[in-house]
Amino acid sequence: MNLMYRSTRDSSNRVTASQAVLQGLSSDGGLFVPETIPVLSKTMEELSMFDYRELAYEVMKLFLTDYTEEELKDSINKAYDDKFDTSEIAPLKQVGNAYYLELFHGATIAFKDMALSILPHLLTKSAKKNNVQEEIVILTATSGDTGKAALAGFADVEGTKIIVFYPKDGVSSVQEKQMVTQQGDNTDVIGIFGNFDDAQTGVKRMFNNTELAKRLKNAGYLFSSANSINIGRLVPQIVYYVYSYASLYKKKQVSLGEKINFVVPTGNFGNILAAYYAKGMGVPIGKLICASNENKVLFDFFQTGCYDKNREFILTESPSMDILVSSNLERLIYHIADCDSQKTAEFMNALSSNGTYEITESMKANLEGFIGGWASEGETREAIQKVYSENVYVIDTHTAVAASVYQGYINETKDATKSVIVSTASPYKFAKSVLEALQIKEIPDDDYEQAILLNKVSNTKIPKAVEEIRSAPVLHTEVCETDKMQEIVENILKII
Ligand SMILES: *Cc1c(COP(=O)(O)O)cnc(C)c1O
Repeated sequence: MNLMYRSTRDSSNRVTASQAVLQGLSSDGGLFVPETIPVLSKTMEELSMFDYRELAYEVMKLFLTDYTEEELKDSINKAYDDKFDTSEIAPLKQVGNAYYLELFHGATIAFKDMALSILPHLLTKSAKKNNVQEEIVILTATSGDTGKAALAGFADVEGTKIIVFYPKDGVSSVQEKQMVTQQGDNTDVIGIFGNFDDAQTGVKRMFNNTELAKRLKNAGYLFSSANSINIGRLVPQIVYYVYSYASLYKKKQVSLGEKINFVVPTGNFGNILAAYYAKGMGVPIGKLICASNENKVLFDFFQTGCYDKNREFILTESPSMDILVSSNLERLIYHIADCDSQKTAEFMNALSSNGTYEITESMKANLEGFIGGWASEGETREAIQKVYSENVYVIDTHTAVAASVYQGYINETKDATKSVIVSTASPYKFAKSVLEALQIKEIPDDDYEQAILLNKVSNTKIPKAVEEIRSAPVLHTEVCETDKMQEIVENILKII
């Protein structure tokens, strides 16, 4: 029997996994959620013997039940290959009093690669399965890392086009360079004069525009999303939480059934939601610690039960977490509302009209296991310095938010549970901020020279992704106001 997915805003809207991957967002504006969370079908003993790809298959086959074994294995093998600079794919390192799960060994040196290297394969296979004739247009808003990872994943993939919008002044220099140098005839990259939420709102508006959808269809196109709202991104992310536990078990760092905590640097709430699903599958997880930067909407939400995006948007040194509307939280809201889609729709309507909503007491009780924390810019820098001076291990600014929140959590609770800090980007991606935090004097302006300096300090190899953008020509220069996004898309697709 197939595991079905339904919309968080209308339970009668049910689709298979491959259809959910294809649609991205449900037509009613909701997100697709699995009707039940499948339970792991193998013991931890067995799972600990698998390599990353084998484990990926064991986890993904339980969620993506209408894909054949061959389709899944082919997708997995094409995704987790030598684009990653380690055959472990997601190495777990013991550093000081915690473990760091390094998710930045893929093509664009941030954790988005974990899902976006496989999504194009899941998507094109889904189009074939569902007899889709149209060309798929991936429309994506990015806070920096999704954009490049999606571009890298979809570039020159037959039957697809990809259009990426990013906040012109809201991403790091390396992030921007990575995107504007993207090759591939089917790629477009546009900067907007606005922040990530503006970009995301503009993209969502196009997705929900039925008149536009009609014109697209007539022209032979179909929109899909590579944003973390796509279930095809969420499912591959569950894998590394199972893998972490299996690795710890294999290394005899945990005994069978012993709970561990995860600390996740959070923005759109996709990564930590995957951890929640892993817990639902039966992985022994204690606390899920949600770490925010100064845009601490989620921290306030976990404190009070009130989500309120009406506040100043702060640009921080961890730009991929500069988000006030965490889209994937909608899925958690749906689950803690005991799968009440009407209630979820009401909350989301309140969010879009007033920018705020407050959950009920019984929903609050269902949040058990989640802890919110946040780190200021100063605390983030201190964490980078502390982890380096104690362990000669350099972490990036996003991971540092989590490291800081974790330190605060153990100071407060004395919780001795073994904990994994999810390491979401390579320090090379945010070299300048990292060098500044380490109080290195005379930091060069040039990105590559910064990388060389970081290489000396950290004793780690300069990643291929950084070498590559050194001499790559800029291919994308378009910039627009936020209200012109649809016009730009119509121009690119020539559907005016
Ligand atoms: C996207 C991103 C995050 C936030 O992840 P979400 O799934 O959006 O919560 C954190 N760190 C880095 C480096 C990222 O690229």
